[in-house]
Order: sequence, then C-alpha cells, then structure tokens
Amino acid sequence: MRCPSCEGRESRVVDSRDLDDAATVRRRRECIACGTRFTTYERTEAARLVIAKRDGTRQEFDRDKLAAGLRKALTRRPVADGAAEQAADEIEAALRAEGMTEVPSSRIGALAMAKLRELDQIAYIRFASVYQSYEDLEALKREVDTLYDQRGHPEP
Ligand SMILES: [Zn+2]
Repeated sequence: MRCPSCEGRESRVVDSRDLDDAATVRRRRECIACGTRFTTYERTEAARLVIAKRDGTRQEFDRDKLAAGLRKALTRRPVADGAAEQAADEIEAALRAEGMTEVPSSRIGALAMAKLRELDQIAYIRFASVYQSYEDLEALKREVDTLYDQRGHPEP
C-alpha cells in the first residue's frame, strides 16, 4: 500500500476498526517516510452479487462505482471524510444481508437515496434528480418544495 503523498511503501497502522458488516476493516496508516496519514479498506472477498438492471441486462455489483456516485452527490457538502465510502459499505452490507445473489438496480438506488437523505438533503436531491429509475417525479418535487420551505435557498 503506497503512500499517496511520497509513494513510500512502508507505513504503520495507527487505527483499525471493523465496519458494520465486519467484512471490511478500515485502517488509518501513517507513512514511515513522510508522516502522511491515509486510510485503507481491507475486505474479505465475498460471494458474487449481481445487479439486474431495468433494461434486462446484468452486471457485477461494483461497490467502488456506487461510492463514486455517492461521492459525486456529496461534493462540497458538509459531511465527514469517507462518508461516501462508509455509505457504500453499508449499502453493500445491507444487500448481502438480504441473502440474494441477484438484486434489482432499483433496490440499490433506493438504499443509496435513503443513505444520502440521512447524510445531507442537498446530496439526496442531487442524486435523486439524476437517478434514472426515480419512479415518482412528483415525490421528488415535493422534496424540493420541502427543502425550500425549510432552508430558503438551497444550492441547485
Ligand atoms: Zn509518505
């Protein structure tokens, strides 16, 4: 695991904790050479999880892609570092806990929106507005109206 700052190969673990699903360990590391601290996620290899998309195609669940989508929605929002990664891990854990090997993409979208809604309402709206299988545009409109009522002038 190379240091993101100096690419040094030696680091020591300064903190280590299991995430909710216990299949993932989050480690805080410190580079021996330059002292930069960075985070790694160590995961046990799990059974395949396949996503059934609305157009009928199937693809392997991609936790990193999900995390990237969540990160994008959370850009410049006041949430903790690693919030997107943690949410992606929790969503994957929830999916795996359901015990199915094939999951409809709408299920992941719903879980992602539920997580974002807990984290940050603006991120939730951003995600919902680009999420193609958002089933009920009226519901989205109501969310936006509610935000305006609560906050005055949210960012687009
Ligand atoms: Zn370093």
